[in-house]
Amino acid sequence: MLDEKDAYSETPLGCACLLGYTTSTELLLASGSYLSPSHISRAHVSCRDALLTALKQRRSKLKLLALDTLGEMDAGRLGLHEDIILDSRAIEVRELLQGKGIGIPLSMFVQDDAGSVYHHCYHSGDHPSTDILEKLWTLGFRDVNSFDMDGNVPLEFCRSDLEQARWLIEHGGDYWTPLTKRQASTNQSTKRSNGPATPAHEIMCSIGRTEKQTNKDLETRRWLLEKLLQVRVGDACSCPCTIGGCVPLKTYFDSRFRHPCSRNGISLPRDSAWKWMTFIQAYQPYLSERDLITTVRRATFDALELIHTCCSHGKGPLYDPTEIDEIDEIHSEQKSLLSLFTDLLVEFERFAYDDQSGRPLITSDPEEFWERRWLPRIMETRDRLDGNELTEGEISAGEAIGVVWGPQPPPKTERVVKPKRAITPEYIMGEIEKIMNE
Ligand SMILES: [Zn+2]
Ligand SMILES: [Zn+2]
Repeated sequence: MLDEKDAYSETPLGCACLLGYTTSTELLLASGSYLSPSHISRAHVSCRDALLTALKQRRSKLKLLALDTLGEMDAGRLGLHEDIILDSRAIEVRELLQGKGIGIPLSMFVQDDAGSVYHHCYHSGDHPSTDILEKLWTLGFRDVNSFDMDGNVPLEFCRSDLEQARWLIEHGGDYWTPLTKRQASTNQSTKRSNGPATPAHEIMCSIGRTEKQTNKDLETRRWLLEKLLQVRVGDACSCPCTIGGCVPLKTYFDSRFRHPCSRNGISLPRDSAWKWMTFIQAYQPYLSERDLITTVRRATFDALELIHTCCSHGKGPLYDPTEIDEIDEIHSEQKSLLSLFTDLLVEFERFAYDDQSGRPLITSDPEEFWERRWLPRIMETRDRLDGNELTEGEISAGEAIGVVWGPQPPPKTERVVKPKRAITPEYIMGEIEKIMNE
């Protein structure tokens, strides 16, 4: 009866803590009602401490039962001697105990949904407040790097809540190790869907997205960017927009600079020169030489409207990196444009590293670089690609192989301009004479 569910799949304890009935919550806990970690972040603030204390006590009892029953090898493997609360490994402990025929009372039961109490907080709907995360940590819950049943770590759930990403990193959240590698080392059987290579990729994508919406949290964004830019792990993509696969900085560019209202989702060059410039101005102290080159590369790739063959973070994958044939075909179709892209990059890198009293131009004067060197060159190249500045011979050669040129300027028409008569004293006298004679 204590754990009977109503039409909304809520138990009496779930209802009581959701509605803030503190006495009922305490009574139901004392009576041994099942407590799911997912109750915690959904509970009314007045009931939360009671739930947290109960969860800690119940997990401690389960741990003691396991230490009494399981062998030394299992205890060591499951980390039962560590001075932390039994959390993401509680399921394994329950299974081992049940396998030995030990009955576990409902109050100590652990359901099959994998993950730590941090996961449950994120899975239960609303984002937990940083205050709840802080309380969990203080009580001894430390599994901030474990996987849930879909193979995700808590850092992947922060989305646009950058303060929480920062909190998790400050409390040991691993943002740099490739997730597939970590999963292999934990022998976790759950399979990751096509997710980001590291949590840093996901967070950088969120930073780019929030940057479009608001200018607040600049301090947090800088704090995160300084750390996340150190992660050089790329994924399996082989798009020429970035060298070495999609790195976290590239996912930031995906969410910040791909504009849904413009051609191919890319801002027009005049607009984007300004955006790239403000990006460099805002984060210059944290950008390495390599990051600056990555920036110029991406800006130029998009300005030439080359087709990406990479995954697009935050917008679902554009290309599956394993579809090699399709990707090769796109690269070969764009061959001449890609070679133009490479030539331009050589030129832009030379501009960017133009020595300005010991500092490269791109950091000493981003405006000069983007507005007066990069932009005019890009505009001129785009005009040329639209066929506006080609010779007659080049145009007809292009048409012979099926090229349809971009919009052409209207044909020039001869304008007949009436010569203006200069107003001189002689002209005025002549006009007066005409009137007098009429
Ligand atoms: Zn790409
Ligand atoms: Zn990718």
